[in-house]
Amino acid sequence: MRLKDLPSEFQEALPVLEKIKAAGFEAYFVGGSVRDALLGQPIHDVDIASSSYPAETKKIFPRTVDIGIEHGTVLVLENGHEYEITTFRTEDVYVDYRRPSQVSFVRSLEEDLKRRDFTINAFALNERSQVIDKFNGLADLGQKRLRAVGNAAERFNEDALRIMRGLRFTASLDFDIEEETFTAMKEHAPLLEKISVERSFIEFDKLLLAPYWRKGIDYLIVSQAYDYLPFLQDSADKWQKLLKDLPEDFTFTSSEQAWASVLLYLDIKNIKSFLKSWKTSNDFQKTVEKLLAIYRLRQERQIEKADVYHYGASLLMLVEELRQAQGLVVDFERIKELDAALTIHDKHEIVVRGGDLIVAFALKPGPNLGKILNQIESFIVDGNLANERQAILDFVRREIKENE
Ligand code: ATP
Ligand code: MG
Repeated sequence: MRLKDLPSEFQEALPVLEKIKAAGFEAYFVGGSVRDALLGQPIHDVDIASSSYPAETKKIFPRTVDIGIEHGTVLVLENGHEYEITTFRTEDVYVDYRRPSQVSFVRSLEEDLKRRDFTINAFALNERSQVIDKFNGLADLGQKRLRAVGNAAERFNEDALRIMRGLRFTASLDFDIEEETFTAMKEHAPLLEKISVERSFIEFDKLLLAPYWRKGIDYLIVSQAYDYLPFLQDSADKWQKLLKDLPEDFTFTSSEQAWASVLLYLDIKNIKSFLKSWKTSNDFQKTVEKLLAIYRLRQERQIEKADVYHYGASLLMLVEELRQAQGLVVDFERIKELDAALTIHDKHEIVVRGGDLIVAFALKPGPNLGKILNQIESFIVDGNLANERQAILDFVRREIKENE
């Protein structure tokens, strides 16, 4: 089969394939971008697989970066783009269910395609737009079906991350999982405990942000894979509740919003330890904590100016979106208006600094100065003091007098 309209990303990358071929090797586009092109969806990174070994690839291109030589990957910089060129390889023995203990470079495309996870991810596309489909992936694409390459049980036993990837693809593509593949996924789900949490998180996160995330969660529930993920043991009912509460057409706007919602529905009290065990970054943790704090605050009262200043309008909007999905009272306009009315969004925007006050009033650095600065900040935020040098100095003079 030929791909009719070669996406521009592939067209631009054609010279890279041509150069590798001119040097006497084979080269193909592979991976998710071929799948997405066949589905008529926008493509992301163009990955290239080649029979050339890394050292050979590096000889072909003047500008390369070693980004994973031991896995056979060389980054090539060509006409303003970056391409990952990976040597055809097999992955032999998996000892820790996580990564192959040995990567062998091979000269055969078929060997390389065999080690890929799902048939729809195991296409290769050549320079003449011909699709190489060794595992009937085209039929699976047509049927919107996710099927493991080869023996499903073996494949999940080799690398349990494929289970998470499988759940994720149902959510991003709206595909169903072929029966044997699903049985094997379910059976091997306990191996999820052995794979790196960071990698599970990446897949889970992609699942939550995907357009058909509900389908991914449905499969998470029926596979009972949740039992082998951090903090998610016995969580089926809670996931059901989340699915029931949020409308069919709702999709999450950001990772933080998605995970805050998960924490809410799972009724997790210790947010920090949950996110720590998922090994998310500190920034991520902080934002999720803020979202949940806003959510609780919003159960008590409406948003005030100081909240907009403190949390920023965008986090407040994310919570408001979730509330809207839950059928609760929302007021997006209020947040916009309060935000527009804020004269400062950050204390660094205050035109007078601590140093200025030390000079102007012979104040000493210390808690007292800190108190005055905080007062200035909250007066400006509330609109009771102009963010102007003279006004602020007058205000401080009065404060000092009053406290004498
Ligand atoms: P995305 O569109 O999200 O990038 P993708 O399918 O391209 O999805 P990548 O993680 O970029 O996913 O991997 C590129 C390709 O490498 C996959 O399409 C698949 O062929 C192969 N692959 C990735 N991870 C695995 C795995 N754990 N086991 C087997 N093959 C894998
Ligand atoms: Mg990819």
